[in-house]
Order: sequence, then structure tokens, then C-alpha cells
Amino acid sequence: MELQVSIPIDDDGFLRRECPSCMGQFKWHHGPASEAAETAPSAEIYFCPLCGVSATVDQWWTQEQLEYAQGVAVPQFMNELTDELRDAVRQPRDSFIQFSVEASDVADAPAPLVEPNDMEIVASPCHAYEPVKVPQELRGPFFCLVCGAEFAV
Ligand SMILES: [Zn+2]
Ligand SMILES: [Zn+2]
Repeated sequence: MELQVSIPIDDDGFLRRECPSCMGQFKWHHGPASEAAETAPSAEIYFCPLCGVSATVDQWWTQEQLEYAQGVAVPQFMNELTDELRDAVRQPRDSFIQFSVEASDVADAPAPLVEPNDMEIVASPCHAYEPVKVPQELRGPFFCLVCGAEFAV
């Protein structure tokens, strides 16, 4: 069973990310930001703009995003499971044994995530087609998302 959970992006098209190494938050552009980005090979790893440590593409979810995805997925999953169990134990009418399946209370799906338009866009000189957003209070140096090269802004 597969569930789709949508995570919001901000008005500039940036998706909030959390570094698995330094736990710092930044944003990367969701989807190609330009033609150059479209033609670039798709990355398997990215470098944290804040600490420069790399991780594979699927390791950058924030705690809020993970909790939200769980919050959305678990009730749906429980409902599906309850339906399947109900079908599985359906008995003929004259059966001596009665089964019933009741779903225990499952938490409601959480309120949708909202992505604030915070942080500042910075682009590395080496891979300018892959801009990131970093917290305004940080002054760098930062690291290129694509190759990990250090750069100042
Ligand atoms: Zn980091
Ligand atoms: Zn670069």
C-alpha cells in the first residue's frame, strides 16, 4: 500500500530541509530552478549548505515533515487494515462463531503543514542553477548543495 503525502513549498518554490549531520534547517529549490538545472544530471547526494556534509537525497526530511507524514499515513493505513480484516473474517450467516472487527480510536489526520516564506536565497558560484535558502541570521560561508564547495556571500 502506497500513500502520497504532500509537503508544502514556499511561494518561491523552496522546500524546507533538515541536515542529518548538523540538524540545521535550510531550503532547496523544489524541481528544476532553470534550464541549466533541468539538463544537469539528477543528484544522488547533496551537500548541506550549512556544514558541508553530504547525505543521500532521501535523508533531508525535517522532524515536522516526518511527523506530519506519519500523522497522515497512520490513520489511512489503519482504516485500510480494518477494512481488510473485516473482509477476511466475514462469516456465513449461519455460522456459530461471530467475528467482528472494530477500529480503535485512531488520531485524526493532522492539520496541513504551512511553509512560511522565510530565509534568504543564496546561490553558489560553481552551481548557480541550484540555489538554496538559508536562515537570514547566518552570514556564511556556505557550501554548494551540488558539489560541497565553500563559498562566501
Ligand atoms: Zn549540515
Ligand atoms: Zn558547486
